[in-house]
Amino acid sequence: MTLTIGPLRAEPGQKTRGTLPADLGSTTAQVPVILVNGSRPGPRVVITGGVHGGEFIGVDATTRLAGLLEPDEVAGQLVICPVSNPPAVYGGRLNISPLDGVNINRVFPGDKDGGPTDRMAAWLFENLLDGADAYIDLHSGGIDQHLLDFVGYRLTGDDELDAKNKAMAHAVGYELVIFGTSPDGGNSHAAANRQGIPAILVETGQLGDRDPATVRRLLDALYRILHHLGVIEAPQDLAPVTVQPRDWIWTGEVVSPVTGLWYPDAVTGDEVSEGQTIGRIIDPVDGTEHKITATATGKIIYGMNGLSVRPGTELAAIAVPHH
Ligand SMILES: [Zn+2]
Repeated sequence: MTLTIGPLRAEPGQKTRGTLPADLGSTTAQVPVILVNGSRPGPRVVITGGVHGGEFIGVDATTRLAGLLEPDEVAGQLVICPVSNPPAVYGGRLNISPLDGVNINRVFPGDKDGGPTDRMAAWLFENLLDGADAYIDLHSGGIDQHLLDFVGYRLTGDDELDAKNKAMAHAVGYELVIFGTSPDGGNSHAAANRQGIPAILVETGQLGDRDPATVRRLLDALYRILHHLGVIEAPQDLAPVTVQPRDWIWTGEVVSPVTGLWYPDAVTGDEVSEGQTIGRIIDPVDGTEHKITATATGKIIYGMNGLSVRPGTELAAIAVPHH
């Protein structure tokens, strides 16, 4: 079956590369897309990197994957987008867009009549996600963020979809698998689930890493997921999985209530108890201290490395073991 996205076409057995314009109202984003249409039938899998700026591992790994995979080794259709939010990736290198200060991964599936970031989200869903059988969204700890590698998925209440989400998440080969208990919210994988598309979030690397070993770790994870989905054979040199995936429950983010300077007492990877002080925000003018406490008993899976914070800055996220 022909794979078509806008003016880009790939016949079975073809790989096609191109840049597609996304009208964001005040500007037009140029979105790079690679289509690998397999020589045999199979699922359509969409992989996005660069949904956030400053998260380079997914951008690099998808670019490499698009170069490495050839149609004759693919069963099904791959839609690969290494830079899904060009203003944020090439502009501020932050999780918010320099165009409007909006975090795109809070507004999916977007609004094509909204502001620039809402339009970007809507463009991705309309052009890339429509018709997908599985969706993988790649993130990292940003330039200011410590992070443990993890996979995220949602429980939706649809048993068949939940089983697919979980199986994909466990196929990644990362130890930390964290699920949210509803498909609500503007995260890409949650919004895809609400359209019936199995989807996961894969987080790899931290602090704006772009080192080859971390990219390799994600590339291996992508090969495992694609093998799990029946799209490719497992490569001979695929690194063996040495960990047992374990499910954790997402409890949300601890955000800053004030502007000031962040001094963490607990760091990413630490076990913390609900109510425990995990850090303090100090007012640089008068030294006023604002204690920040853990909202749950569990493990800090990512945390703010930067010193300066303002209301709403994500300071930490805590996951709780699932038994
Ligand atoms: Zn991200």
